[in-house]
Amino acid sequence: MSYIIKGETGDWEIVVGLEVHCEVISKAKLFSGASATFGGEANTQVSFVDAGFPGMLPVINHECVEQAIKTGFGLNATINKKSIFARKNYYYADLPNGYQISQSDHPIVSDGYIDVDLENGETRRIGIERLHLEQDAGKLMHDQHPSKSFVDLNRAGVALMEIVSRPDIRSPEEAGAYLRKLRSIVRYIGSCDGNMDEGSMRCDANVSVRHPGEPFGTRAEIKNVNSIRFVMQAIEYEAKRQVELLEEGGKVVQETRKFDSTTGVTKTMRSKETAVDYRYFYDPDLIPLRLTDELIERLHKEMPELPDAMKKRFIENYGLTAYDADQLIMEKDIATYFEKAAKGHDAKKVANYIMGDLFGALNKLGKSINESPVSPENLGRMVDLINDGTISSRIAKDVFQFMIDEGKTPDEIVNEKGLKQVSDTSAIEKIIDEVIANNPDKVAEFRSGKDKLLGWFVGQTMKASQGKANPAMLNELLRKKLVG
Ligand code: ADP
Ligand code: MG
Repeated sequence: MSYIIKGETGDWEIVVGLEVHCEVISKAKLFSGASATFGGEANTQVSFVDAGFPGMLPVINHECVEQAIKTGFGLNATINKKSIFARKNYYYADLPNGYQISQSDHPIVSDGYIDVDLENGETRRIGIERLHLEQDAGKLMHDQHPSKSFVDLNRAGVALMEIVSRPDIRSPEEAGAYLRKLRSIVRYIGSCDGNMDEGSMRCDANVSVRHPGEPFGTRAEIKNVNSIRFVMQAIEYEAKRQVELLEEGGKVVQETRKFDSTTGVTKTMRSKETAVDYRYFYDPDLIPLRLTDELIERLHKEMPELPDAMKKRFIENYGLTAYDADQLIMEKDIATYFEKAAKGHDAKKVANYIMGDLFGALNKLGKSINESPVSPENLGRMVDLINDGTISSRIAKDVFQFMIDEGKTPDEIVNEKGLKQVSDTSAIEKIIDEVIANNPDKVAEFRSGKDKLLGWFVGQTMKASQGKANPAMLNELLRKKLVG
């Protein structure tokens, strides 16, 4: 199903390519030994290299290189055995060197793809043009003093992976699905924490429109959008703006725009720089980066199971639907929890309890799955108790709530609170007899043809049993007795 904007001159299609900057998880920066951890006091994690002191030489950090290679595998891409660092020259107060070390025509990774699943069940393959390594810049702080701005260089020189997609994305929804998938891949690999709100994953969206079948139109680039939802909103707004402009006879100019999340509008920032403006040249301080086959093979062997493979396995091994498997693999911690809880139990039912009751409860508590008061083992055990008839699924709701509140095992709760399901015929019959004896008029009405009253009797007897009667038995016995 394609996303189309209806215009006066016909249908318009959106064309999007995303550039995503991922901050690499590593102990040290890309070319210096200073710490790369987030959130330290300003300017406490800065080496002479990061501060751009004269005569300082960059030294490549192999940990960052390995993270980029692993991410390349995650993107089904080619790992280039030779890549070259280049200087991208521009002047800005948070860039002491006057250039950023990046990679231009020889990136470390190229030609990959990721498959994204859409809500309607369709899968779309989005091409990846390249992944290159580069340095992050420092940060300007404008909110510390009424008339001065400050520079924090802690982030200067931290490694980034810039992941550039091909212009294969055709709707805001696809852009959202692509970003979620990419985030999940880097998190599985452990190469980036993927937190967009902390700026460790940042997205530039390139947007153009065209009539289907026509060549690509001129694009505008929306810089540094910091949430998936905002990227989707920005694309939608920008595409509509371009359609209106073109239909009025105007022209889209290639420029850099900014998205304002409070108004939902994109605005001109500056006209687009081209590669020529940056005067790229190979960094004379760094020799080309060469990777050995041994290194590439070792890292390939070390690759963890990735979301696609895990999804396939969940469908095959646990009989889950594609949709359910998707919900469970999106975050690695949820997948891990599910596998622990499902081991040796009814996996489908476990999955349902995780996606329903557990997600609901965690949401209310504002807790992550790792902080769940219900351990995976206890959830699996609760499902066993339902399946062997010890508790009904109605009572399971209460047991679950007690597990959330008290953190005990389901067996402890069932015993302490006396929640065992009553599956003993004579005990249930006794309750039914009482209800029937107390409501002779209702019984008469039922027998004279008011079938609907059966539901009322079920409710009354269930209540009299404090919810513990086995529902199937109760229904059957009640029907027998009432029909008499
Ligand atoms: P630059 O380096 O100037 O940002 P690139 O050619 O590397 O330019 O492209 C950057 C991004 O723009 C890529 O993600 C690419 O897919 C996307 N892109 C290129 N052409 C178009 C287009 N006509 N419409 C939308 N996106 C595009
Ligand atoms: Mg760009």
